[in-house]
Amino acid sequence: MDKKFKRTLVTTALPYANGPVHIGHLAGVYVPADIYTRYLRLKGEDVIMVGGSDEHGVPITIKAKKEGVTPQDIVDRYHTIIKDSMEELGISFDVYSRTTSKIHSETASEFFRHLYDKGEFVEKTSMQLYDEQANQFLADRYVTGECPHCHFDHAYGDQCEKCGTSLNATDLINPKSEITGSTPVLRETKHWYLPLDKWEPALSKWILEGHKEWKTNVYGQCKSWIDLGLQPRAVSRDLDWGVPVPVEGAEGKVLYVWFDAPIGYISNTKELLPDSWEKYWKDPESRVINFIGKDNIVFHCIVFPAMLMAYGDNYQLPDNVPANEFLNLDGDKIST
Ligand SMILES: [Zn+2]
Repeated sequence: MDKKFKRTLVTTALPYANGPVHIGHLAGVYVPADIYTRYLRLKGEDVIMVGGSDEHGVPITIKAKKEGVTPQDIVDRYHTIIKDSMEELGISFDVYSRTTSKIHSETASEFFRHLYDKGEFVEKTSMQLYDEQANQFLADRYVTGECPHCHFDHAYGDQCEKCGTSLNATDLINPKSEITGSTPVLRETKHWYLPLDKWEPALSKWILEGHKEWKTNVYGQCKSWIDLGLQPRAVSRDLDWGVPVPVEGAEGKVLYVWFDAPIGYISNTKELLPDSWEKYWKDPESRVINFIGKDNIVFHCIVFPAMLMAYGDNYQLPDNVPANEFLNLDGDKIST
């Protein structure tokens, strides 16, 4: 806790580029990170603050389809809006980039390939819903149907918004493709999984024994996840928008957005400091702080650290992960 560090890397949660930045995120993530970074700069310490837009994933492709434009059009529009908002608010990023950059694609691709070559993934074949008219697999929000729990008739393939239950698309009763309206069929597909269960003892030791000083909301959520038992998590999916899976026979598959997004912190640092980025990530005398919103605790405390441990090569785990709750105004939650 009182360890002295030579330098600090401040990362900020990547805002999702399918809408403008939300005031709750500004108050919970970017303003606190900015204050902290400015404080260290004033003290004359070696510190950098990195950020960027998260530009992959299904919601962006759905928004593009609805508007009759390309996913690239959507992210170009919102990346510009978000970047301008950050600048106008005076958030003092050393770099604010995006996950559709070339350097990010190369970095995420290399990260996957390194884990693949080390045998860190588990390959699994499963049955997924497939739209024969559109010739594509239907990932979460591309399929709707009846919720098997509350029987709401318009549940999404990843969640029922009426009863809040997380779903697998194959759980839906009478599933329907959101693309063509047709009834999908089951088809076999292969994906790669990160076995989080393998890293459970190391994560438990690192967090539950080693970081009792973390905020109680963060520590508590990590503990309840670990107590429930960690499961392998798919790192790839059938989609045409994202970083292609860099393995032979993986045509039509991209890295799952949760896998490529945190690697954005690394690629942003590389973009800022092409020759010296590694000392911020791989030197035990560097301190990494991830400023995030409360929805991202599990990704930053469990999933991304497991990825870094699996990668090896001296990648440092975060020293702290301050996650903030909702912003309140006159005692009420501010919603979107
Ligand atoms: Zn339901």
